[in-house]
Amino acid sequence: MTWEEFENEIARRGGVDFWWRDDDAGPVLPALEPLLKLSRDHKKPVALAVIPQAAEPALFGLLHDKVSVLQHGTDHRNRAAPGEKKTEYPGAEPIEAALARVAEGFERLRTLAGPRFFPVLAPPWNRVREDLLGKLPALGIRGVSAYGVRATARPAPGLMQVNTHVDVVAWRAGRRFIGEDRALELATKRLGEQPLGWLTHHALHDADTWRFFERLFQVRGIRWLSAHEVFSYTGLGHG
Ligand SMILES: [Zn+2]
Repeated sequence: MTWEEFENEIARRGGVDFWWRDDDAGPVLPALEPLLKLSRDHKKPVALAVIPQAAEPALFGLLHDKVSVLQHGTDHRNRAAPGEKKTEYPGAEPIEAALARVAEGFERLRTLAGPRFFPVLAPPWNRVREDLLGKLPALGIRGVSAYGVRATARPAPGLMQVNTHVDVVAWRAGRRFIGEDRALELATKRLGEQPLGWLTHHALHDADTWRFFERLFQVRGIRWLSAHEVFSYTGLGHG
């Protein structure tokens, strides 16, 4: 798919709402710089999913006004049983243990990130056991963010779900950029999901990936929403 075709599709729809989540933040890496610069230069909000236990306090001093912090699990350790898909929240773990860990990560991020912290759990590997969801609002968590078409916008009372839909990493092909053509195709296929979420992993990206986003930010008719806006989303607000 070409940029022109993509732009025509956005125009045909009379505009769309996008948001941007970047995962696996924590340590202060040189790879953070292009991400933060891109967001700052183009004035596009980014929701940085930070692993609480990996978070270096210095990270938070680097964040500018367009960056909000989400909770990316607590330790990002895979606890899946053999045969179970990768998850920090396996079915066999006592739910109290999982909850206590979420609460601990929540407190750490709230302390470190201060007002930049937006109380949303973006579970590692985009997977969280369902019986945990109803217990999150009592901890102060307002939303959950995974990947793909969501089953419901309200998985539990007091909890909103807003997913990402376009993962730009080819995980089984050297963790490279999936490429412009594929990224535009994937996004077009998911435009019915609003707001549509883009998922990046700053530690993995090369210049081509960021050039793609620079180009995407030039497309007219796209409103880029902050975490605050997507988790209080009531529909397309164009025109
Ligand atoms: Zn992750």
